[in-house]
Amino acid sequence: MTNSFNNTEKMPVLFLGHGSPMTAIEENEFVTGFRNIGKTIPKPNAILCVSAHWETKGTFVTAMEKPRIIHDFGGFPQALFDVQYPASGSPELAKETKSLIQKTDVGLDDKWGLDHGAWTVIKHLYPNANVPVIQMSLDYIQAPQYHYDLAKELSSLREKGILIIGSGNMVHNLGMIDWEKLNEIDYGYNWALEANEKMKRFILSNDHQQLINFKSQGKAFQLAIPTPEHYLPLLYALALKEENENITFFNDKPVGGSLTMTSVKIY
Ligand code: ZN
Repeated sequence: MTNSFNNTEKMPVLFLGHGSPMTAIEENEFVTGFRNIGKTIPKPNAILCVSAHWETKGTFVTAMEKPRIIHDFGGFPQALFDVQYPASGSPELAKETKSLIQKTDVGLDDKWGLDHGAWTVIKHLYPNANVPVIQMSLDYIQAPQYHYDLAKELSSLREKGILIIGSGNMVHNLGMIDWEKLNEIDYGYNWALEANEKMKRFILSNDHQQLINFKSQGKAFQLAIPTPEHYLPLLYALALKEENENITFFNDKPVGGSLTMTSVKIY
C-alpha cells in the first residue's frame, strides 16, 4: 500500500441527499445545510464520493488528475450547464483505494469525471474547489450486501484525512414526483415520510441489516426505493460507522412529494 496521505484523526463520513441538480445554483435551506456541515469537518486531504449517478459493471475509481464536470441531466437552465467546479482529482487516492479493496479488482478510470451527484453538493461544502475529489462507481450487478461489505474495506481511509461521501437520496421516486411542488420544501407523501422515518430509526439503532434487506421492508420502502442507485450510497456511508460513533441528521425534509433530502453525518 502507498502512503501518500498523512495519518489524521478519524474523519467523519457523510451521506448527502442531493435532490435536484438545481441544488448547485439555488439558495435554499438545503444549500445552507451543506455549507454548515462543511464547517464542522476538518479540511480533508481528499474526498472519495460514491454517487448514485455512476453505475458500472464492476467497480471503478476515477484516476485522472483533472476530472471534467459532467452535466448529466437535461431540461435545466443554461446557468446550470455553465457551472464548473475545478477540483483536482487524486490519482494517488485512486491507487490507494484500489490497493485497499480485496473484494474485487477495482478499475482505474480515466474517462468519467465528476457527475452531478458529486459536484452539485461538494461545491457547497468546499466552494473554493481546494480539496481533490475522486469518485467510486456502483457495480449495478451486485446485491446490497455486497456494496455494504465492499464499503467496509474503505475504513482505513478515514484515518488518512479522506472524507468519504455517499451521495443519493434515501427516498427517491422520480416517477411519482409532483413537479409543481418541487420547490415546496416539506412536502412529502405519507409513504415517503413513513419510509424516511423508518430508515432513520434503523440508522439510529445501528440496525444496518434491516436497511440492507430493504426489499423486505414493505410497501413504503418499495415506493421509496423503486431502483437502488440513490439508496445504495447510504449503505456505503453506514458500513463505515463504528458501533460507538454518533449520528446527526440534517436537511431532513421531503420535497416534491416523493423525494427526501435527509442527510447523515457519522462521527
Ligand atoms: Zn440523483
